[in-house]
Amino acid sequence: MPRLIPGKLIAATHNSGKVSELRDLFAPYGFTVVSALELGLNEPDETEDSFAGNALLKARAAMQATGLPALSDDSGLAVAALGGQPGIHSARWAGEPRDFYHAMEKVEEALQATGSSDRSAKFVCALAVAWPDGSEAVFEGEVHGTLVWPPRGSRGFGYDPVFLAEGEAETFGEMEPARKHAMSHRARAVEKLRAALLA
Ligand code: IMP
Repeated sequence: MPRLIPGKLIAATHNSGKVSELRDLFAPYGFTVVSALELGLNEPDETEDSFAGNALLKARAAMQATGLPALSDDSGLAVAALGGQPGIHSARWAGEPRDFYHAMEKVEEALQATGSSDRSAKFVCALAVAWPDGSEAVFEGEVHGTLVWPPRGSRGFGYDPVFLAEGEAETFGEMEPARKHAMSHRARAVEKLRAALLA
């Protein structure tokens, strides 16, 4: 597998919350993250049935469009009592245009409808890298926790205001970004990528 050379890194995502976190997480290693949105790249349809599959598909599309190594992030919230939903459909549960309060409400309603007292959930992140020579790699990270209702905090993005990581008093929506970056699914995937491609 090729290494990642510090410098410009194409992030195959249009999600500004993810771009901002990837910027923070990769800055210490000398990378300047440039997003697919800034480059005017199209986002391919997410047609795979796993986080890793969709991450690879997005990284490949951005690499082919730019001729440069590309990184992508496919992630989501998996709720145990909902059999792992919304999972790879986490963004879609927010409708069009995206409304994450609506998505959080939908998750809460679905959870109430199960009658289960199990409120455990995890965030999952698959980071994929595709190189112009055809090499590819995927790294996955998870963070486990429980869901709170009502949502708390206005930091972060997506489902952050309802996610309480194990052992924490603040939701990801209330936490200082640096604290989230020390424990998140995305940070754990970046750490695996760092160990494999940057060490
Ligand atoms: P996709 O990977 O672009 O298909 O969308 C992932 C979706 O999962 C995002 O739009 C968010 O709703 C959710 N998600 C992923 N990571 C996080 C996170 O760190 N906090 C909150 N929500 C997240």
